[in-house]
Amino acid sequence: MALEIEQFMCRSDNFGILARNPENGEAFLVDAPEEGPILAAIERTGWTPATLLITHHHGDHVEANLALKEKFGLTIIGPEAEKAKIPGIDLTVRGGDMIKVAGLNVRVIDTPGHTLGHVSYHFQKEQVVFAADTLFALGCGRLLEGTPTQMVSSLTKLAALPPETQVYCGHEYTQSNARFALTVDPDNKQLKARAKEVDRLRKAGKPTLPTTIGQELATNPFLRWTDPAIRATLGMEGADDVAVFAEIRKRKDNF
Ligand code: ZN
Ligand code: FE
Repeated sequence: MALEIEQFMCRSDNFGILARNPENGEAFLVDAPEEGPILAAIERTGWTPATLLITHHHGDHVEANLALKEKFGLTIIGPEAEKAKIPGIDLTVRGGDMIKVAGLNVRVIDTPGHTLGHVSYHFQKEQVVFAADTLFALGCGRLLEGTPTQMVSSLTKLAALPPETQVYCGHEYTQSNARFALTVDPDNKQLKARAKEVDRLRKAGKPTLPTTIGQELATNPFLRWTDPAIRATLGMEGADDVAVFAEIRKRKDNF
């Protein structure tokens, strides 16, 4: 049975996630960017969360932890490596851990790079991954704490998930990511078509997420460091994978 997922905007461009297992009615949140929109989502759906999964310590992902914990008695789960910076944390996880959330099997994937402890949560049977600020639609998180080598390793783990896996991300950055992606992969037909679709969705005020692993593999330059056309555009035909990724990341930082 599929997971029921309510995705909504918080702050200026963060996504809030409230999800429910329809079989047992148990609900959970992924990250806590802002109290008001999360309370509104709970009200709208009638789903009362028991668990809050935290991906990383940034303020725009943990701001409402304590307020929500007080209201709902949430169990807050987050990465061991960042526990000191995650308000109200009850249980810590590491990459490779298998946990139960709302009665479902979740594999914790260690995805450092944006922060050193960033984790992603993979609902295996439901084929959904919550990747927050590691993998974006047509982009990836800035390397605020980690190295290009770490991020390549993290993105490689996500890229290896089944292509039909639904990917939920921390931010609505897709339109500007698409503009940048076209500068390094200008002849990619799928990318061009997707950029048009993204413009259409944004014009209609609609979210561009979730995406899928398959769609990102075909169009996201931050997963395509081996692609000959991208390497040719960068003049890096013989370079190693991490160097190509680092160059794409650097160009995006200066875009
Ligand atoms: Zn972040
Ligand atoms: Fe963020």
